[in-house]
Amino acid sequence: MAGLSVLPDRLKRSIFSFTWEAIRHRGEKVDWVSLVWFKGHTPKHAFHMWVTQQDRLPTRARLATWDPCIDASCLLCDGCAETRDHLFLRCSFSEQVWHLVTKRLSYRPTLFHTWTAFGDWLSSSDSTCPTTLRWLAAQATIYQLSAERINNHLHNTTSSTPQKILNDLDRLIRNSILARKKRRKFRGLMQVWLKHF
Ligand SMILES: [Zn+2]
Repeated sequence: MAGLSVLPDRLKRSIFSFTWEAIRHRGEKVDWVSLVWFKGHTPKHAFHMWVTQQDRLPTRARLATWDPCIDASCLLCDGCAETRDHLFLRCSFSEQVWHLVTKRLSYRPTLFHTWTAFGDWLSSSDSTCPTTLRWLAAQATIYQLSAERINNHLHNTTSSTPQKILNDLDRLIRNSILARKKRRKFRGLMQVWLKHF
């Protein structure tokens, strides 16, 4: 990751976002209800994902539209307006987290430049990673990025590293899989999740 962090943002994008945009299927409407409220979802992660999908989170860019005195810059990178898509998908910090998470799911490091592309990736099916694990990991990632923003930046405490976020995600996902191990769709998920540990 040290090598990744020294690359200019534009070069990083061109390398890693080989990207989902180029290979995704276009034109089909994403069924967000099924993606969010799937059998075995983690309630707090699913609820947070649902609010995020509706773009109802009080990001600083949204708050600034109501009160121009509010600084709209991103609390994670301080470099761009904090919209939903920037915060969770295009922020340099979030990109590093997705880089680690998609590797853990056995994909080539993948980035999502738009919420539509992210939804298409979630709703696609392939033989690389079971959809249930992808949905579990995606919801937990969005949740952890939000928690990082609030806990470590808004309250001015020490900020985490992308690797620390992945470590926290690892614990959350292992716990979710273990708690549902008797469900048919959760069988074998732990092996896939630990494959690139
Ligand atoms: Zn940012």
